[in-house]
Amino acid sequence: TQTLNIVGGGMAGSEAAWQAANMGIDVVIHEMRPKVETFAHKTGNLGEMVCSNSFRSDDSEQNAVGLLHWEMRAADGLIMQTADRHRLPAGGALAVDREPFAETVTARLKDHPNITISHQEVTSLPEDGHWIFATGPLTSTALGEAIRAETGAEALAFFDAIAPIVYFDSIDMTRAWMQSRYDKGETEEERTAYLNCPMDRDQYEAFIDALLAADKTEFHEGETAGYFDGCLPIEVMAERGRETLRHGPMKPVGLTNPHQPDVKAHAVVQLRRDNALGTLYNIVGFQTKMKYGAQTEVLRMIPGLEKASFARLGGIHRNTFLNSPTLLDEQMRLKSRPNIRFAGQITGVEGYVESAAMGLLAGRMAAGDILGQPIAPPPDTTAMGALITHITGGADAKTFQPMNVNFGLFPPVQGLKGGRRGRKDRYKAYTDRAKSDWRGWLAQTALDAA
Ligand code: FAD
Repeated sequence: TQTLNIVGGGMAGSEAAWQAANMGIDVVIHEMRPKVETFAHKTGNLGEMVCSNSFRSDDSEQNAVGLLHWEMRAADGLIMQTADRHRLPAGGALAVDREPFAETVTARLKDHPNITISHQEVTSLPEDGHWIFATGPLTSTALGEAIRAETGAEALAFFDAIAPIVYFDSIDMTRAWMQSRYDKGETEEERTAYLNCPMDRDQYEAFIDALLAADKTEFHEGETAGYFDGCLPIEVMAERGRETLRHGPMKPVGLTNPHQPDVKAHAVVQLRRDNALGTLYNIVGFQTKMKYGAQTEVLRMIPGLEKASFARLGGIHRNTFLNSPTLLDEQMRLKSRPNIRFAGQITGVEGYVESAAMGLLAGRMAAGDILGQPIAPPPDTTAMGALITHITGGADAKTFQPMNVNFGLFPPVQGLKGGRRGRKDRYKAYTDRAKSDWRGWLAQTALDAA
């Protein structure tokens, strides 16, 4: 049959359904709530926001998530249209009145002539038909097990353990240096895989004190039930003993600081290149539940990171997500079963906006397949394209963790000043290029679908 089945009516599933239905495809949304509940959702509505009511920055010239808003609006996205309709005053951010938002999303999908909503839990990966799985960070247990059986245990995680990610151009390279431990690695790429930040004894002791004193968040009730299998936050390691980190992720062995070759560091913080472009580095082993404000303060105590700017901060959450770089093709289809696509947070993006964005692409691509006119992913110069390229290929599969959209995912614009001073011009150049390329992609794929 030519029906598109979408499992999960959250941010991604709702947007995917809207896009495909508007391309003339019959869609069935399978949503398990309110029959089966999650620990975070409160209603049976589609498009329910489970926590904050913010879509973050709405600045489409200087902010990557604002650019994603712009691209979704340009593509008649349901989630953005509805967010705009129920917008609350919040300065430069887009805050949303969550209840009317979810009610409107639900009503518009229900009223759409091409969409049927079925309240039922799906617990297996079907052999036939066209499917999008958009079951989110709280995918039901039975379905999680079915996915694990298909992908292998290593390729589906039930928690994220996110180490903070730093923009390379904000790292002080007069203090930090590039070297892999024991100089392992033969190619230039392997040798530039690691950056090191040295600490003397006093700096280390002060750092441990700050870690122990920092404000932390707690797990939500029910969040860890039956799942958490131990990816320890750094502050918990520090609580186990002041030397624990020095013998763990901060061990100073196998490294020589070219800025001070005669001084043996007491501890070393290592950062690992996080994307093929080399614009992002993650702090190895630094998953943390420190609150965001405390986190930036503590991390900027690390020599070389005094002026660090963060593409994303660390965290640990209940989060079902796939190892997309190994499992999905460039169109988010499961390589082992191309009749099944994934979309939303389960593909390894993070946040309401990013999840809706991946739903938008999945809905259009699935419709393209059904219409016999495949739609290629957008170029990686757009926010949508940068995200899908990252999760399906740009990210390192071995260390893959969920990602927010950020300018570090975009290919550099040539001929512009680097560093902090050039940043405003650079971001404007990224967003100008993205808007033009996104318009181009929309025009081209609209023709395809006509
Ligand atoms: P969801 O919106 O979760 O939608 C998935 C849907 O699938 C749900 O409706 C679920 O009921 C349904 N479903 C699951 N399994 C099945 C099944 N087997 N059969 C049928 N239906 C099923 N993001 C932010 O941007 N800001 C925040 O402050 C924020 N806080 C969060 C707090 C918590 C506790 C959690 C868990 C997540 C938070 N997120 C936050 C992430 C945010 O929830 C997601 O980014 C976003 O909702 C993901 O969209 P999605 O469509 O992929 O998943």
